[in-house]
Amino acid sequence: MAIDFTLPADVLEVRDRVRDFMTHEVAPTEDRLREDGDPRAWRPALSELREKARANGLWAPHMPRSYGGMELGPLAMAFVSAECGRTQYGAYILNCHAPDEGNMHTLLHWGSDDQRERYLKPLVDGECRSCFAMTEPEVAGSDPTGIQTRAILEDGVWVINGRKWFTSGARGARFAIVIARTDPDADPPQARNSAFLVDCDTPGFEVVRDIKTMAGRGNHAEISLTDVRVPEDALFGGLGNGHRLGQARLGPARLAHCMRWIGNAERALEMMVDRALRRPLHGGVLADKQGIQWKMSESAMELYQAKLMVIHAAYLIENGMEFRQEVAMCKHHVANTLWRVVDRALQVHGALGYSQDVDLGDMLRHARAARLVDGADEVHLTRIAENVIEAFQETGTTRGATGADLL
Ligand SMILES: Cc1cc2nc3c(=O)[nH]c(=O)nc-3n(C[C@H](O)[C@H](O)[C@H](O)COP(=O)(O)OP(=O)(O)OC[C@H]3O[C@@H](n4cnc5c(N)ncnc54)[C@H](O)[C@@H]3O)c2cc1C
Repeated sequence: MAIDFTLPADVLEVRDRVRDFMTHEVAPTEDRLREDGDPRAWRPALSELREKARANGLWAPHMPRSYGGMELGPLAMAFVSAECGRTQYGAYILNCHAPDEGNMHTLLHWGSDDQRERYLKPLVDGECRSCFAMTEPEVAGSDPTGIQTRAILEDGVWVINGRKWFTSGARGARFAIVIARTDPDADPPQARNSAFLVDCDTPGFEVVRDIKTMAGRGNHAEISLTDVRVPEDALFGGLGNGHRLGQARLGPARLAHCMRWIGNAERALEMMVDRALRRPLHGGVLADKQGIQWKMSESAMELYQAKLMVIHAAYLIENGMEFRQEVAMCKHHVANTLWRVVDRALQVHGALGYSQDVDLGDMLRHARAARLVDGADEVHLTRIAENVIEAFQETGTTRGATGADLL
């Protein structure tokens, strides 16, 4: 029997070290900073934690050792990211946060030697941050073939013009991966776009505003590119490969989000149970009530599904197997699980849940973005259904599209 759910000793060891660091260093620091209420105290405290993480050998876990990382595969990363997801800044502290984490993978796999030296190395070293600029205000982000930002090659220089928004982390980033249209007539239309490595201090690259979202300002920026001139070798991943590069980036990056969301959801369930056990009413406590217990059961079952799905999808990626259907199902399921579990936890807290005395309102507002980022729910549902239909038409069964022939 080849299936073995025993975790390898090295995965357990790294998970425990990360858990210990998050529990004893990151979470108490965040609690203290929140209580303190001085926003200026955050930056130095987070920098100090990053140095501590590095000194403890917990740095850039997803990157090769030759770059100063821990060289963990997607499976081990599932456990590391879930631990990080239990705190607000855990992933940033270990230098495996979005969008840098996905950008590092992309640079590692698609970058030329020179691009890796110039962009990947300082990113892994924690010297700088980056951003990924694909979505535009005027066209549907769900259909990147409509991208309007234009890159034209003029005398050995790419000239880029356009407007992007929701470019997470743009303010303060050293460089952006910009997806722009290089051939409007390309066939297939997915080959219309290419990726570019653009230094954010290039003249014409401007952060217009930090978009105020329902979760406040989170450095999700609107940016304009006006006659931004970059050298010919700023082209990243080959002409017409913008779509492929974006998709390749999004597979593992989507899964990394799912892993962190599991950590968030687990924390919400713990808050729900803790509150239900301590809230007296009708001669008992809330946790005695079946209606409340069912919220716990449903959350536990959904989290169990989420964990199995994430581990299986990570296994597929780690072993070089086809993973897109499983990652799409995972992304949809975990994003919606997070939303439901946080909402249930809020409900169990009653008015307290609605107040800012607890984090649940904040968690709920952040959780809502999970159903939009990295592909909206409906986009994943569409792809999943297409794969189910295709599997049935090709093989007479849907098995291949319901979990890589698992059963
Ligand atoms: C917090 C946050 C951070 C983000 N960070 C980044 C980033 O760093 N870089 C970046 O490039 N982008 C980023 N995005 C943008 C994100 O990738 C897009 O919001 C997403 O791809 C959807 O694109 P859109 O917003 O243009 O919605 P649209 O494409 O206009 O779609 C609107 C809605 O239509 C529905 N829909 C879409 N397609 C279908 C379909 N086929 N069938 C049925 N219904 C459909 C969905 O409900 C969708 O929400 C971020 C977004 C958020 C909220």
